Amino acid sequence: AARNPGQPEYLQAVTEVIESLWPFIARHPRYAEHGLLDRLVEPERMLQFRVSWVDDHGDVHVNRGFRIQHSSAIGPYKGGLRFHPSVNASILKFLAFEQTFKNALTTLPMGGGKGGSDFDPKGRSPGEVMRFCQAFVTELFRHIGPETDVPAGDIGVGGREVGFMAGMVKKLTNRADCFFTGKALAFGGSLIRPEATGYGTVYFAQEMLQQQGRDFDGLRVSVSGSGNVAQYAVEKAMALGAKVVTVSDSSGTVVDEDGFTPAKLAELMEVKNHLYGRVSDYAERTRTRFHAGIRPWGVKVDVALPCATQNELDEQDARTLVENGVVCVAEGANMPSTLGAVQVFERARVLYAPGKASNAGGVATSGLEMSQNAMRLSWPREEVDARLLGIMKAIHEACVRHGRREDGSVSYVDGANVAGFVKVADAMLAQGVV
Ligand code: NDP
Repeated sequence: AARNPGQPEYLQAVTEVIESLWPFIARHPRYAEHGLLDRLVEPERMLQFRVSWVDDHGDVHVNRGFRIQHSSAIGPYKGGLRFHPSVNASILKFLAFEQTFKNALTTLPMGGGKGGSDFDPKGRSPGEVMRFCQAFVTELFRHIGPETDVPAGDIGVGGREVGFMAGMVKKLTNRADCFFTGKALAFGGSLIRPEATGYGTVYFAQEMLQQQGRDFDGLRVSVSGSGNVAQYAVEKAMALGAKVVTVSDSSGTVVDEDGFTPAKLAELMEVKNHLYGRVSDYAERTRTRFHAGIRPWGVKVDVALPCATQNELDEQDARTLVENGVVCVAEGANMPSTLGAVQVFERARVLYAPGKASNAGGVATSGLEMSQNAMRLSWPREEVDARLLGIMKAIHEACVRHGRREDGSVSYVDGANVAGFVKVADAMLAQGVV
């Protein structure tokens, strides 16, 4: 804590991982040697830079840009870029740290990184967003590349923003390969990449439910958020027969007791992805109920899928979900549950999957996008989806293998942390003290 003052999110992410690792390291003392843990909790490189840009009225704005290159032990740094006013070094360090373990879990050769800016895209014109992206990447481009660091999207960064940045990098480097992932199909993107995080989260939850002889059919599901991850989590849960009763954003929650339908989801996508509106606009258009200022966790459900942002589900929310009989919680977002909430789920033996396991489908499919780019071909939708499902099953198996408790149940927290750690740690030990 003394080395990372004012970085609560980073300390939270490290605490969760280290608590899982202690008992494992006690049984395998070679992982306590060579300063391994000390090295693992220190990012290899942190970049911070000024981003100046001009708005539509000619006014100059200055934002802060970051890239955290956490670990290259098993491959090039890989992780998204987030544009949100809350972005700071603590949040990006926690995301890059988590990404390192997550990427190891995917079985693909990718290290961990994350970046972004405190720029707020809400209310900005398309021209302003483009100029910001160009200004941001004009500095970032010299630190990234297909063999060093491969960025993608995250909160506030979707296909449009990735395209603006990739276009500027192409101009600056005189290289025609667009190595960002999350690109549009027209210039090397992968089918299923937009869907992958949401679909993967639901695939993972399905694997967990199957452990108890259940499936999604007929279950009530709450989803938080209404962005990329949330939308495709809703789509896949519905396709598997679940009744999805909530979506949300930072202003409140839509509760729809009739459940989502494909037509309602299309309307949500129109409002969020094309009109850049709010869930309250969606509620107005579809005459569903919008509750300002509340989160979805008070609604009685069988499965909860937090897909918005970090620390959006606290200890009290977790208790409410458990009292209401929740059986499965799978995180589409990164670290949406506080440490207290995780303890409540673990003690109640809820099937609880931390984001680094359940939302790894997004980066895994980014890895598949890199493979397709390297081979200069593109796989059909069915092939990418089948590979995604196979990867989520493999991650689930790894969690079960490393997370089995004495009473026979599975701690997916311990399983994910230990499985991810072993791969990164073995690579670090093999490469010497660097
Ligand atoms: P989007 O920008 O598409 O959507 C983000 C959603 O979260 C919006 O509904 C947004 O609401 C809400 N949100 C963001 N910040 C806050 C906040 N401070 N308080 C309350 N709600 C908030 O992002 P994504 O769907 O891509 O990302 C969602 C989560 O999933 C993030 O944690 C991200 O790191 C994680 N993730 C994403 C992956 C991907 O492939 N995109 C991969 C793996 C993880 P509002 O509009 O009101 O801000």
